[in-house]
Amino acid sequence: MDTPAEVAKKAAGKPKRVPQLLRGMKDTLPEEQRYWTFVRQRVEAMAELYSYSQIATPLLEETSLFVRSIGKETDVIEKEIYSFEDKGGDSVALRPEGTAGVVRAYIEHGMLTRPQPVKLFYIGPFFRYDRPQAGRYRQFHQFGFEAIGDAHPVLDAQLMLLVYQFHAELGLPVTLQVNSIGTPQAREGYRKALLDYYRTRKNALCEDCRLRLQRNPLRLLDCKQPDCQLLAQEAPQIIDFLDEASNKHFVQVLEHLDSMEVPYVLNPRLVRGLDYYTGTVFEVWPEERPAELVEPLPEGAPPAEPPVKPGAQSALGGGGRYDLLVESLGGQPTPAIGFAIGIERLILELKFRDTKVGQEPTPDIFVAQLGDAGRKKALRFFEELRRGGFRVTEAFSKDGIKAQMELANRRKVKFTLIIGQKEIMDDTILIRDMESGIQETVDYQKAIPELQKRLLKYGVVEKNGNGGQHLPLPTA
Ligand code: AMP
Repeated sequence: MDTPAEVAKKAAGKPKRVPQLLRGMKDTLPEEQRYWTFVRQRVEAMAELYSYSQIATPLLEETSLFVRSIGKETDVIEKEIYSFEDKGGDSVALRPEGTAGVVRAYIEHGMLTRPQPVKLFYIGPFFRYDRPQAGRYRQFHQFGFEAIGDAHPVLDAQLMLLVYQFHAELGLPVTLQVNSIGTPQAREGYRKALLDYYRTRKNALCEDCRLRLQRNPLRLLDCKQPDCQLLAQEAPQIIDFLDEASNKHFVQVLEHLDSMEVPYVLNPRLVRGLDYYTGTVFEVWPEERPAELVEPLPEGAPPAEPPVKPGAQSALGGGGRYDLLVESLGGQPTPAIGFAIGIERLILELKFRDTKVGQEPTPDIFVAQLGDAGRKKALRFFEELRRGGFRVTEAFSKDGIKAQMELANRRKVKFTLIIGQKEIMDDTILIRDMESGIQETVDYQKAIPELQKRLLKYGVVEKNGNGGQHLPLPTA
């Protein structure tokens, strides 16, 4: 790997190359932002209603945090984690998921002394060196909810209810896939049964699954290859290996879900990919979509492997209990449960369902100016309008009125205010109604109430409602 100095040396004297977006990364342009704002607002609203407080942990953590929590024989750690040595020689990693960092923070900040369960949510970027595919990036975003410090099954059910309601209220039809994977001991028994089952069927497995068989046989169950899926259908089911306590817990979770009428599907093959899960696990699956509506691959991406099938099922997110994680990272024994949803995939669904996500607020007023004195006064008037709660825009660096009017048109404002030499002399302002094209001169002192009156016709009420007064501004 080249150091920055070596990169600079190699580039010296060569024709300049335009820097390119890294593979698997994505720019979110202004026109996309309204989806992100919408999702963020919905997440925050849901968190507030269910009393989850926001936590933000660093993007970079010790590599060992993830290895110890996610498990070293998982795809995330074996293939996908971005880890490197920092300048001090420590092995650090970009976070591939959110739970490990939250649990580290819970232990490090002594949150055990707070009322339990401690309910936290997060939203932000995560990193996995994944093969880029439709809806799969190397930097992606998740929001997640974690309830740490309580083992009651009602918590599992309420979290699933929350996640179900979240999607339902966005108009997204989803199913909750639910399973229990019990304790590590139960899983050990199950692992042996799986090995027995697959031993005679190894040749029918895909290459990846043959490797998984040696390392992490549970992962065979959610391989997307048709042949592997066929085999998985006949495989032993973990539910038959559960210990009594896990069984009882799971039955109670399902009873709560039933009594809240949360629709779910029992999925005996759902195991999730990370080692820290115990007991209840679940995933949120979007309704299948027809072939022609499956999102095309990002430009330049290699063909997806396995191919993205028409209507291919990919989870929006998932979660489950991780009752042993806090202890395994050095904290007190502390049961916990959480889930995470992938925001890129959620936004794909919102687009597919044509969900109305609201427009970014557009300005109502354009302040145009002519000449130096006009520019100065316009700059001040813009501030007054902005402080008064009007949505206002400008192009103060432009000199010509034509260029400014073009911009005002493009931004689809309702009124353009023009301050030129004549207006300066008369202490007036010219108001142009952009729809009718009618222009009218009004007293500068009366401009704000006049604008309020006119905007009211469009149903626009300025936010701060300063009663139509010019606001005091420091004099130049
Ligand atoms: P996981 O932690 O792997 O269960 O991921 C939870 C959710 O995050 C998935 O269901 C996806 O919606 C999303 N996700 C995971 N990996 C990626 C990725 N590489 N690109 C985009 N979204 C992802």
